[in-house]
Amino acid sequence: MAATIYYDNDADLSLLKNKTVAILGYGSQGHAQAQNLRDSGCNVIVGQRPGGENYDLAISHGFEPLPIDEATKRGDLINILLPDEVQGDIFKKHILEHLSEGNILMCSHGFNLHFGQVEAPRGVDTLLVAPKGPGHLVRSEFEKGGGVPSLIAVGEGASEETKQLGLAYAKGIGGTRGGVIETTIAEETETDLFGEQVVLCGGVSELVKAAFETLVDAGYQPEMAYFECLHELKLIVDLFYQGGLSYMRYSVSNTAEYGDYSRGPRIINDDTRKEMKKILTEIQNGQFAREWILENRAGAPAFKAIRRRDRSLQIEDVGRRLRSLMSWIDSKEV
Ligand code: NDP
Ligand code: MG
Repeated sequence: MAATIYYDNDADLSLLKNKTVAILGYGSQGHAQAQNLRDSGCNVIVGQRPGGENYDLAISHGFEPLPIDEATKRGDLINILLPDEVQGDIFKKHILEHLSEGNILMCSHGFNLHFGQVEAPRGVDTLLVAPKGPGHLVRSEFEKGGGVPSLIAVGEGASEETKQLGLAYAKGIGGTRGGVIETTIAEETETDLFGEQVVLCGGVSELVKAAFETLVDAGYQPEMAYFECLHELKLIVDLFYQGGLSYMRYSVSNTAEYGDYSRGPRIINDDTRKEMKKILTEIQNGQFAREWILENRAGAPAFKAIRRRDRSLQIEDVGRRLRSLMSWIDSKEV
C-alpha cells in the first residue's frame, strides 16, 4: 500500500494562531524547529537549561529560554527535543505534572513513547512530527525556501484536531514543502532504529572500517585505503541520492558495475540478512530499548569506552591529516 503524503496545501498554519508551542531543548532539532516556526508566524517559547552553549545560542537567536517546567506550563503544544536517553527522567521530574488537559505532547522520535518511558496523562494527545534529517539541514533548507521531508504520526486515541495541528506544525517547520509521510509511532520508532543500526551508522561504519583494515593489513598505504574506502563513499551516495542504485551503476565503469553484481552479495550474504532480521526482532521485542535504557542508568560505561576506542582508530588519524589538506572540505573535528 502506498504511503499517504501531505504537502503545503494539505496543512493550515492558522490552526496554530492562538496556540503556544513550547520547544524543550535547543540542540540540533530544537534550534531549527523553534526558529522555523517563529519565521512561519507561530508563537514559540523555548525551554532550555542555563549554563551551556545552547542556552546562549537561544538568547542570541532572540528567545528568552525558560526552565523546562515553566515552558511546559505555558505551552499548548509541548515538543520534547531533548536527547532520547534523558527524556524519560526529565518527563517524570519536570514535565508530567505541568501538563494540562488539551495539551499536545510532541516528539521528533518515538523511542520514549513507544517503549513506555514517556506516558501522556489522560486528556493529553501524543503527536510525532519527525524531520528526516539533522537539525542544521531543517534550518538551512527552510531558509533556502525548501524543507526536509518529515513524518507525522498521532498516538493512540488522538483526535483529528491533533492531526491537523500536527500538519500545521509540519508546515511551520518547512516539512510539507518536502512532503510529510503519515506513519505510526511504532513504525517510525522501529524503522528509524533499524535504519541507523543496520545501514546508516552501524552497517556503513563497520563496512568502511573492515575494508580499510583489510587493505592496510595487506600492506597497502593507509592514505590509499582511506580514499578508496571512506572518502569516495560520498561520491557513490550522492549518485544513489540523485538517481537510486541504477544511476550509480550507470555512472561508474562497467568493471565497477560487474564487481558490484558479482562481489557485493558475498559481502552482504545470507548470514548478514539473517543477522539483520535478528536485529529487527530485538528492536520489535524491546530488547534493544531495554539494553540502551539500562546502559544509561549505569552511566553508559560500555558506550563511552567504545566511543573512546573508535576515536583513536588509524582510519581517523589518517583521515584527519588528509582532510586538512583538502581546503574545500568543510572539515570537522569532535
Ligand atoms: P541534541 O543533543 O542536539 O540537543 C539536546 C538538547 O537537550 C540541548 O539543548 C541540551 O542542552 C538539552 N539537554 C541535554 N541533556 C539535558 C538534561 N539532562 N537536562 C536538560 N536538558 C538537557 O538533541 P537532538 O536535537 O539531536 O535530538 C532531540 C530529539 O530529536 C531526539 O528525540 C532525537 O531522536 C530527535 N531527532 C534528532 C535528529 C537529529 O538529526 N539530531 C533527527 C530526527 C529526530 P545542553 O546544551 O545544556 O546540554
Ligand atoms: Mg533517524
